[in-house]
Amino acid sequence: MKRKLNHLLRYLKKRFSGRQVFDEKVRAYLTLRCNLNCEFCVNNHVDGGKNLTNYSLLGASEWIRIFNSLERDIVITGGEPFLYKELRNIVQRVNRKLEITIYSNLTVPIKGDTSWLKRKGLSIYGSYHPLYSNNKAFLENIKILKQLNVKFSIHAIDVMGKEKLEHICKENLGDEIPDITIDEDQREIYDCASKASRKKVRCSRKIILIAPDGNRYQCVSRMARQVDPFENLANESFTTARRIVICNDYGYCAPCDGVGETSFTFLNEGDNIEK
Ligand code: SF4
Ligand code: SF4
Repeated sequence: MKRKLNHLLRYLKKRFSGRQVFDEKVRAYLTLRCNLNCEFCVNNHVDGGKNLTNYSLLGASEWIRIFNSLERDIVITGGEPFLYKELRNIVQRVNRKLEITIYSNLTVPIKGDTSWLKRKGLSIYGSYHPLYSNNKAFLENIKILKQLNVKFSIHAIDVMGKEKLEHICKENLGDEIPDITIDEDQREIYDCASKASRKKVRCSRKIILIAPDGNRYQCVSRMARQVDPFENLANESFTTARRIVICNDYGYCAPCDGVGETSFTFLNEGDNIEK
């Protein structure tokens, strides 16, 4: 009931303000390792980004404690979540009232006991990367999800022209996935990632983005650069979803940092508005 009410309030806020509204979910990057190497991957193309495979990883128990204490629905993302060895453990043990969405490229073979994927409230948001992925592995995993009746949807990023991409999807996936969604390449949409120039801004975001080591960051860019973390949720209390920072890196944000309940106010060099 509470969830439905929140959903309605978010819808109305978005409908009448015309702006994107925070979905109240936690975004957890269990690992930033990935088995693919997509040219458009935001994680690997942040200016000044560190080697993300070196991030230290929290264990399943620490993640479960964080999720249960936050009491918010969960988006598990990355990197490729199926490379995180204790993914199953987290899904099975986290508070059953919380919904979980796993963002995955669906090319890591799903092996062994698959019953955990049938958990109530679990869904998969799959991304298909025909230029970078193994088609056979992808289709095998789709088959498993269908057999288990797991709720899933698939999208692809338009990096080659919509018509061409649709044609490739149809050729590779046949009738298995007739309703694939084609999304715009975010690199071309957001001014904050244009790399035209670096500007100073007051950056206000409502987001809960947790890195593999438990640190919360304002954005994917700061997580990739490993600079200016907020609290570490493995051993500190959650503060608040809305955070406001002064940042000199506008223009060099990751494309996805422009998404969501985000606003930027341009500042002059001398300005130093209180955070
Ligand atoms: S599958 Fe996703 S996380 Fe992995 S390289 Fe491609 S875009 Fe990045
Ligand atoms: S402007 Fe905001 S989103 Fe962009 S890099 Fe700075 S803190 Fe991150």
